[in-house]
Amino acid sequence: MADLLIGGQWMGAQSGATRPIRCPADGRLVATVDEAGRTDAEAAIHAARATFDNGAWPQTPAPERGAVLWRVADLLLEHKDDVARAESLDTGKRLVESEYDVDDVAAVFRHYAGLTVSGADAGRVIDTGQPDVVSRVVREPVGVCGLITPWNYPLLQTSWKVAPCLAAGNTFVLKPSELTPSSAIWLMRLLVEAGLPDGVANLVLGAGPEAGAPLSEHHDVDLVSFTGGVVTGRSVMAAAAATVKKVALELGGKNPNIVFADADRETALDMALTAVFLHSGQVCSAGARLVIAESIHDEFVDELVARAEAIRLGGPFDEQAETGPLISAAHRDKIAAYVADGLAEGAVLRCGGSTPDDPQLADGYYYLPTVLDGCASAMRVVQEESFGPILTVETFTDEDDAVRLANDSRYGLAGAVWTADSGRGQRVAARLRMGTVWINDYHPYVPHAEWGGYKQSGTGRELGLAGLEEYRETKHIWQHIAPQPQGWFGGRK
Ligand code: NAD
Repeated sequence: MADLLIGGQWMGAQSGATRPIRCPADGRLVATVDEAGRTDAEAAIHAARATFDNGAWPQTPAPERGAVLWRVADLLLEHKDDVARAESLDTGKRLVESEYDVDDVAAVFRHYAGLTVSGADAGRVIDTGQPDVVSRVVREPVGVCGLITPWNYPLLQTSWKVAPCLAAGNTFVLKPSELTPSSAIWLMRLLVEAGLPDGVANLVLGAGPEAGAPLSEHHDVDLVSFTGGVVTGRSVMAAAAATVKKVALELGGKNPNIVFADADRETALDMALTAVFLHSGQVCSAGARLVIAESIHDEFVDELVARAEAIRLGGPFDEQAETGPLISAAHRDKIAAYVADGLAEGAVLRCGGSTPDDPQLADGYYYLPTVLDGCASAMRVVQEESFGPILTVETFTDEDDAVRLANDSRYGLAGAVWTADSGRGQRVAARLRMGTVWINDYHPYVPHAEWGGYKQSGTGRELGLAGLEEYRETKHIWQHIAPQPQGWFGGRK
């Protein structure tokens, strides 16, 4: 079956090109998919434009759009095993994690289905003080949306865009990561099965510069929503400037996990591991910077290192595995280079720092959980997002010092503070320049709460109500019901 969905038709690339998809856990071929180029992306944009301008979807009552989203959630859960398996084969992540992701994706679709019936679409009537005037502010879909997504949580990141985009009445062209296209193909099939009209959802697969770039450049695209790295994000924003389209960017993070001396030690230790090593650190909100009170540093880091050394690596279907491989050989090389760089800048290697020597893992892109102690915030390994299993450790003396270190970053996506002092938790949370702050927890999110970054972690918000607003325009409609000449210029009698 062909893999590109354009104007309601499944088709191959005009060039006939295809791309092999390999599982990062062992390099085996898991799929061969059609590889779109610019002309395919442009055809998809034209289909989305025509469907938005001439189709019924934008005018479909919001609750009817919501009903389609609700059906998508049901279908996802019905096909959970297949979808999760496809996601795990593409990403190498443990099957159980992909299963959680499918549950989360269904919850995201239900959240936006709910907003279509809960009045979030309602506009406002303005009291102008003029009885002959009806003044209304209404919310409208923004138009054709270009949606570009990464490989780490392929389906989840896609759902954060697709669900609100459809709830608001837009049409879209989706370009998932070329490394992990399978769950996007699944989602498109389920959207069609749920009754979405032809041409509303369009899918192109392929490399960013060819299949993705037209979504930020083309004058027929009204909004581009991008999740990925900061370097690509800048190029998307620059390309979008030429047509002054709306831009939403969810970029990287280098997130501090602050532990005060009075924190519940056992929980803080356990969660410090989860914060950074979940999905081998390939999480935008990973707690990759441990910022720890000087007084507990030695004891805490010794125990953390012992636990990190015991983490079991393995493929998606290895039930003993606690985390999986990196996405590619090139990404693993990048991680190794960050570690080498950190050591050259004076960090102390406490564990990891190499690939595992287990022969059973030799065909996958594995890298050992790594702890670099004695770090300073000026180091490149502390400042830049490595997006892998590297934890850097910095120490602080007091509350002000902790906040200063945590905020000393070009990023501002997320962070956490661990303390038994509730007042201090709230004080520190208020001073952190980040889109999400956890107090005595790490990683949870809910579809009802906004997600996004300060500083170079991005612009705009996904999830929550703001995640819907990204996909809407605001229009003021002024009606005079008893118009009279004003006589401003006098006119001719
Ligand atoms: P990436 O920037 O390499 O690629 C992201 C997407 O952009 C892919 O689909 C890619 O094909 C496409 N792309 C590449 N060049 C393009 C171009 N010139 N024009 C248009 N599209 C182009 O990122 P990645 O390596 O896939 O993902 C990892 C990054 O994503 C990390 O930095 C991570 O922090 C970030 N991320 C952020 C969030 C968040 O919520 N803030 C969530 C997940 C991932």
